[in-house]
Amino acid sequence: MAQLTQGVPARLAAVRERIRAAEDRLGRKPGSVALLAVSKKQEVAKIRAAFTAGQTAFGESYAQEAAEKMDALETLGVQWHFIGRIQGNKTRHIAERFDWVHSLCNLKHARRLSEQRPARLPPLTAYVQVNLDLEPGKAGLPPAQVADFITACAGLPRLKLAGLMTLPAPVEDEEARRRPFRALRLLRDRIATPALPLPVLSMGMSADLEAAIAEGATMVRVGTAVFGPREAG
Ligand SMILES: *Cc1c(COP(=O)(O)O)cnc(C)c1O
Repeated sequence: MAQLTQGVPARLAAVRERIRAAEDRLGRKPGSVALLAVSKKQEVAKIRAAFTAGQTAFGESYAQEAAEKMDALETLGVQWHFIGRIQGNKTRHIAERFDWVHSLCNLKHARRLSEQRPARLPPLTAYVQVNLDLEPGKAGLPPAQVADFITACAGLPRLKLAGLMTLPAPVEDEEARRRPFRALRLLRDRIATPALPLPVLSMGMSADLEAAIAEGATMVRVGTAVFGPREAG
């Protein structure tokens, strides 16, 4: 077990340093970029190690896997974010057990999440996933549909829309890497209103967090750089 987890605090520290250096170099306010540690397909012991090292927010992509980890870590006070593809039969689980959803892109799911959010909990905070590459089969709304979607969600009482999320296809070229992140920020700037400011831009992962921070990310979702390679399957 020790072997499995011993790298986590050092990796976490290195990622925090990358974020800090990027904020510094790219003219962002210190502390303006939050780290979500993406723990999908990672051992519970590694999550515990990261938590002990001060990381409180974790992202999971698969409802069943997340449920097992939540049960195992129930007493810790972890903040759980759902970042995976939302399935219609899993909305109740998400509404009951997560406090953030990064992957909202379907109105039926939005309605169900709002209906199923337990009254004893605060509204579920949601970010709308945007498919900027217009890759077929990929999750997320085309940019042209985001404003209408947000208007349609605005009346849902138990859902709090707070930002946009994107997951661009990996590219090598540094300048090309920044393009989708810039597009997400500009889209947000265009559709945000004083009543609905959409302050969160959830963008950037292990390979491209600097590019995302350069373009205004307020939350980076980092998996392998924090935890090491994921389990297969
Ligand atoms: C897996 C995943 C990440 C983290 O990816 P890494 O390359 O391991 O940092 C971020 N966001 C989403 C939506 C993911 O599914």
